[in-house]
Amino acid sequence: MVDQRAVAVWRDGGAVRVPADQPVVTAFDAGLARGDGVFESVLVDAGATPRLADHLVRLQRSTALLDLPAVPDDAWRALVAAATEGWPADVEGVCRLFLTRGDGTTPTALALLAPVGADVLAQRRDGVRVVALTYGLAADVRAGAPWLLGGAKTLSYAVNMAAQRHAHAVGADDVVFTSAEGRLLEGPTSTVVWAAGGTLHTPPLDTGILAGTTQARLFAAARADGWPTAVTPGTVADLHGADAVWLLSGIRGAAPVTALDGVERGDAGLTARVQELLARP
Ligand code: PLP
Repeated sequence: MVDQRAVAVWRDGGAVRVPADQPVVTAFDAGLARGDGVFESVLVDAGATPRLADHLVRLQRSTALLDLPAVPDDAWRALVAAATEGWPADVEGVCRLFLTRGDGTTPTALALLAPVGADVLAQRRDGVRVVALTYGLAADVRAGAPWLLGGAKTLSYAVNMAAQRHAHAVGADDVVFTSAEGRLLEGPTSTVVWAAGGTLHTPPLDTGILAGTTQARLFAAARADGWPTAVTPGTVADLHGADAVWLLSGIRGAAPVTALDGVERGDAGLTARVQELLARP
C-alpha cells in the first residue's frame, strides 16, 4: 500500500518536507520524555484546511499556557502547506501540529498528515456508544490552578487514551468524563453537546475543559439559524434525559451518542440538522 503520510518540520527558519519514515526529533526531546508540548488536529478536506485559523488561535493559547516559545501563525501555515502539498483531494486527512519544548535549546515544531481513520469515519456515520468515567477532579479546581493546564491542548494525552481503552474493554467506543462531584466535562478527544428543551447545551469552560472549535462553530451556526444555545453545568442524568447527545471534534465532526452507560438512546432526528449546520462555510 502507498504510504500517504506526510511530515514537515521547522528547520533553519523554514518549513522542510521530509519523508514520513525519517526521524525528526532527538531522543532527548521533552515532548517524547514528558509530553511537554502542545498540539492541534486539523481536518484536511478536499486538500484544504478551512478551519486552520480557529486551531491556530487555540494553539497559540496552549503555547502561552505552557510558557513555550511562540511560533508565529505564518510558520504554522508554512508547515501545513508543506505537509499538505500534493495531498489527494478525495482523501480526508488529519493534519497534526506539534510544538514541544524540544531538547532544551530549540523547540520542536512539526506538521504530520495522515488519512482520517476508517473507525473515525464510521463513528461519524453510525455514532458512538459512550460510558461516563470520572476525571477525579472537582469541577472548579482547574480554574484556580494554572499548573494543571486547564484549557490547554497538551501532548499529555495518556490518561485520555487510557480512558478510551477502558471504554473499549467494557464494550463502548468512547467516554464522557465527569468531575469528582459528577458534573459533565468533555470526551477524551471531543466536546459534549446535548439538545434539550429546544436548546443546544455544552458544559462551561471554567471546569478546565478544552474550548472546542467545532462546538463554537456549531453554536454560532445554530444561533444564526434560530436554534438557541446555552452553556450549562449538566450531569449524566441530563444526558439521559436529553433529546440527543453528540461528541464533537474537528476530525470526527458530530458523532451521535447511541448508548450511554449501556442504555440505548436516540437523537430525535436532530443529527442531520447538526451536521448540516457544521457543513456550512
Ligand atoms: N476536548 C478535547 C480534550 C479534545 O482533545 C478535542 C479535540 O481535539 C476537543 C475537545 C474538540 O475540539 P475541536 O472541536 O476543536 O476538535
